[in-house]
Amino acid sequence: MKSYDVIIIGRGLTGLSTAWHLAKSGVKKICLVAPNPTLDQCSSLNAGYASVTLHDNISRAVHGHGPEVTRSLLDVNRTGFSGLLQFTKEHQIKHSVGCITRMASTPQEATEMSFAVDWLSKNGFPASLSISSPNTIQSDGAAAASIDVTSVLRLLEKQSDAPVIADSVQVIRRSRDGVSIKTSSGDSIHGEMIVAACHRGIKSLIPDLAPALVNHADQWMEFSILKGPLKLNRGDLTFAEYSQFWMTYSYRNTIIAGGARYLRPWAGVEAETPSILKTATSAVKNKIEHLFNVSLSEPTQTVAAIDLRACDEIPIIGPMYGDSRILVASGFMGSGLTLGFASGLALSEFIQSGKSKMIANAFHPTRLRSLSDSD
Ligand SMILES: Cc1cc2nc3c(=O)[nH]c(=O)nc-3n(C[C@H](O)[C@H](O)[C@H](O)COP(=O)(O)OP(=O)(O)OC[C@H]3O[C@@H](n4cnc5c(N)ncnc54)[C@H](O)[C@@H]3O)c2cc1C
Repeated sequence: MKSYDVIIIGRGLTGLSTAWHLAKSGVKKICLVAPNPTLDQCSSLNAGYASVTLHDNISRAVHGHGPEVTRSLLDVNRTGFSGLLQFTKEHQIKHSVGCITRMASTPQEATEMSFAVDWLSKNGFPASLSISSPNTIQSDGAAAASIDVTSVLRLLEKQSDAPVIADSVQVIRRSRDGVSIKTSSGDSIHGEMIVAACHRGIKSLIPDLAPALVNHADQWMEFSILKGPLKLNRGDLTFAEYSQFWMTYSYRNTIIAGGARYLRPWAGVEAETPSILKTATSAVKNKIEHLFNVSLSEPTQTVAAIDLRACDEIPIIGPMYGDSRILVASGFMGSGLTLGFASGLALSEFIQSGKSKMIANAFHPTRLRSLSDSD
C-alpha cells in the first residue's frame, strides 16, 4: 500500500494552501487527491475578490458569537488576506488592491454601521463612517483585492510539488497505525494524517459533520460598463443592503457582482446542483446601475456554484473530534479565498506541532459534536 505522511483530499485553495505551507516547512511526503477535472471546485468558480473583513458586516458575528470569536475570525481573515496578497505579488499574478465600502440603505442599517465602525476601530481595524444625507457609507480601508485566482491555484500546486492522485476518495478508514483512504478506483493509500479539504465532499467522508453543514446555491455575474463614469478604482469592493449585494471593480476592468440570493427565499438552501436565477441577475444589475448611476451590459459571464456553510456560520477549522489525525477546514461562506489560504497555514501548523495559535477552539469541529448522529 502506498504511504504518505499527509494525504490532502481536495485541490482547491484550502488543499493547495496546506500542501504549499507544508512543503515550505520541509514536510515532503505529501499527496493531493482529487478527481480531475475538478468541475465543482468552488476555488475555480469563485468571483475572485478577497477582503480583510468578513462578507457580512461584523455586527451579526458580534451579537451571535461574542467579541472574542469575532476578533479571532477577523484575525484569521487578516492573516489569510496578507498571505494571499503577498503570494500574489511575489509571483506577479494579476490583481488590483482596493478599498471596502458598505452603503446603508435604511436608517436602521446606518445605526448598525455605526456600531460596527465603533467596534472595529476599538479592535484595531481601520473603519470610519461618512454621513452625507441620504447616504451613510462605512469605509473599511484599503483591505480588498480582485485576484486572478486560477493563476494562484496553478502556482500553489506547482510550488508544493506534491504528487496528484486524480481520483475521488470514497471512504476514510481509521486504524491504530494510521489513517487511510480508499479511492473510487479501488486503491488504498495509507497516511499518518489526513486533511479533508474537500468542501462538499466532507459530508460523505466525515458523516458526523454532515448534519452541521448546509449547502447553498450562489451565482455571480460579470458586466462591462456601457456608460459611466464609475467612481471606483480597480480592486474596490462595495457591499449594500446588509451585504445582500456586493460588487467589485475587477482587475480586468469589469464589474463582478452578486449576492442577491444570499439569505433570500431563493437562496437555494440545501441545493445539490448549481442553478442560475434570472431574478438574481436582474436584481444585481439594477442595484448597481441605481447605486452608481452607470449603465451596464447584459452579463458577459454568469457562474453558478454550490457553497457550504456551518449551521452556526462559523468556519470549521481544526482536528476532527475523536481522531486528531483527521483535520478539517470548510464552511468559509463568502470569505473562502482568505480563510482557505489561512487554513492552509493553520493546518500545516496542526500537522507539525499539534496546535495552531491562530485557530480559536471556537472554530474546531468539536463544537458541532452534539449534532452528529453518532459519537
Ligand atoms: C458562486 C461563488 C462565488 C464565490 N466567490 C468568492 C469570492 O469572490 N471570494 C471569496 O473569498 N470566496 C468566494 N466564494 C467562496 C470560496 O470560493 C470557497 O469558500 C473556497 O473556494 C473553498 O475552497 P476549498 O478549497 O475549501 O473548496 P473547493 O475549492 O470546492 O475544493 C474542494 C476540492 O475537493 C475535491 N473533492 C470533493 N470531494 C472529494 C472526494 N470525495 N474525493 C477527493 N476530492 C474531493 C474537489 O474536487 C475539489 O478539488 C464563492 C463561492 C461561490 C459558491
